Amino acid sequence: MRILVTGGCGFIGSALVLHLVQELGHEVATLDALTYAANPVSLAPLEATGRHRLIEADICDREAVRAAFREFRPEAVMHLAAESHVDRSITDPGAFVRTNVIGTQVMLDAARERYEGLTGAEREAFRFLHVSTDEVYGSLPPDGFFTEDSRYDPRSPYSASKAASDHLARAWHETYGLPVLVTNCSNNYGPRHFPEKLIPLMILNALEGKNLPVYGDGLNERDWIHVEDHAKGLVAVLERGRLGETYLLGGRAVRNNLAVVKGLCAAFDRLRPGAGPHERLITFVADRPGHDRRYAIDCTKAERELGWAPQKTFEAALEETVAWYLANEAWWRPIREGRYKGDRLGLKAEA
Ligand code: NAD
Repeated sequence: MRILVTGGCGFIGSALVLHLVQELGHEVATLDALTYAANPVSLAPLEATGRHRLIEADICDREAVRAAFREFRPEAVMHLAAESHVDRSITDPGAFVRTNVIGTQVMLDAARERYEGLTGAEREAFRFLHVSTDEVYGSLPPDGFFTEDSRYDPRSPYSASKAASDHLARAWHETYGLPVLVTNCSNNYGPRHFPEKLIPLMILNALEGKNLPVYGDGLNERDWIHVEDHAKGLVAVLERGRLGETYLLGGRAVRNNLAVVKGLCAAFDRLRPGAGPHERLITFVADRPGHDRRYAIDCTKAERELGWAPQKTFEAALEETVAWYLANEAWWRPIREGRYKGDRLGLKAEA
């Protein structure tokens, strides 16, 4: 199958593209603007396969997107490109509205044009999978869980822009009959995660013996899913999801931020016993404005309908993630030192 993946040079996109090409044998075109958050090195292992190409383009550039559709003739689209860092959305909301809202509209329009030109089996098989976040549902009470019926209540510029994009995707299904699927997923972790986000930031700080800054009291809860489980969930939705439906994907691993950081410290103590104990590096810093208290996903619908379930166990996979960063300094060192392209300022913790 020819699949167009937007944002394939980012954290989740690269895990997805590697899975699609290496494990499933699909032909993939990655459409990515190569913003500060991209690292094309993540896709270097695909060069030899002959089944992957990179199209450097902005999803807001209508002509470039249409040209990509004309040249690659995708049979499915998986749309992940987004501005994704909540802290940045607080200081620069315009970039989030532009890419996440306008960019999604451009993608939907181009997909619609392609879909309307298809006939027969190709038209039957065409899909547009819109990838989104559980943050669109706002903050949960203690012990609560999001389901596909949860009310939208976005509270940051990031989640508001993603919420808008979810509504656009569903509207293109209802209004134009585009075969759309929507996923909302919880917090991802794993290899190739840009080090402004909580887990990689903490790993690299711990490695360098720096403080581990935890927002507020550290008791904000998130549901953690390994990025490879997410990638497999997206494929399950693409292959078996019902058109127009939304599927929530989560890791069934709700942990508060402090527990995550303590888990990382324990992993470091095991992997680098001479440098421990690492918990002494934990420091508490002023909370983020509007910091949602709890996100947690009930992914029963995806499990029941799609035969998918998260496979990774959080603490073991967290240690694997630490080991990946220890073994892949060439991937993160240029980013960490600001030698990589783009804006490298303000590496702060996200969760
Ligand atoms: P990321 O920031 O790591 O990667 C985003 C990618 O999109 C980058 O390669 C970037 O260059 C590209 N991009 C940004 N603006 C673009 C534009 N205008 N045109 C083309 N490409 C552009 O993000 P991620 O964490 O991999 O998230 C991917 C998707 O999954 C996003 O839609 C995000 O909202 C969603 N999501 C993320 C998480 C998470 O925990 N990271 C959880 C749920 C959903």
